[in-house]
Amino acid sequence: MNATWRKRAACRGLDPDIFYPASDEEAEEAKAICVACPVQQVCLEHALAHRERDGVWGGLTERERRRALRQRRKSA
Ligand code: SF4
Repeated sequence: MNATWRKRAACRGLDPDIFYPASDEEAEEAKAICVACPVQQVCLEHALAHRERDGVWGGLTERERRRALRQRRKSA
């Protein structure tokens, strides 16, 4: 995997537990970091393309990514 974008990730070096919250309600801390991340869009596209199941990626929780994929399929 080309991980160049990961070097610029705002979450780099942070506690990974922040990005694996027990519920969507507990994802706010991770989302706040993603919002300011310079590679948010790349991260999100990576997660969608690889069907990453767990954790917050690109500012979206697992459930939100599933919804995003459904919406893309509908509008495709
Ligand atoms: S968008 Fe969030 S999860 Fe993705 S690299 Fe940036 S901080 Fe990390």
